[in-house]
Amino acid sequence: MADDVIDADELDPGFKYEISKQPGGENLKLCFQCGTCSGTCPVRAINDKYNPRRIIRMALLGMRKEVLCSDFIWLCSTCYACHERCPQNVRIPELMFAIRNIALREGNIHPVYKGYVDALDGHGRLLEVGEFENEKRVKYGLPPIAEEKERVRKIFHHTRIKDRTDGKLKGGEACATEGSK
Ligand code: SF4
Ligand code: SF4
Repeated sequence: MADDVIDADELDPGFKYEISKQPGGENLKLCFQCGTCSGTCPVRAINDKYNPRRIIRMALLGMRKEVLCSDFIWLCSTCYACHERCPQNVRIPELMFAIRNIALREGNIHPVYKGYVDALDGHGRLLEVGEFENEKRVKYGLPPIAEEKERVRKIFHHTRIKDRTDGKLKGGEACATEGSK
């Protein structure tokens, strides 16, 4: 498909219903495309690749592959500025999580999340807390922190997210041909 031409034969009319069934995606169809979210979004202000109104429009149209295989669904910083102003309570940050969850199941995850998953697997938290940090905590009257990676690994075992980010699960074939935009 040419970059700016939509091929109706490639649209998936069920995509909006698929998203609406995900936790956080329930209000997708309430959007009436006013653009307030895009006018509010600080990420959109510095990177026009990310445009929440446009992503919602693409999702409503059924541009499943283009949405799920793109980098831009990972750019929302979850600041909730749009949520405060959306007249339709679309709950855009939660909607982005819903779309990301579908993308993840399809094998598409932004590489930066592999770093997060590896850190959680290694330390049970996003930042390592070692002897140095604990000495500082004790000095300021705070209790030391122990790594709790076993608890996190149990979650990983059930969700298989690390297998996904390590490329050990099937998936992503649809995006492999589409490429990341
Ligand atoms: S502010 Fe709400 S209704 Fe307006 S375009 Fe964004 S999501 Fe849709
Ligand atoms: S929550 Fe996401 S979409 Fe909404 S304003 Fe913040 S960065 Fe933009």
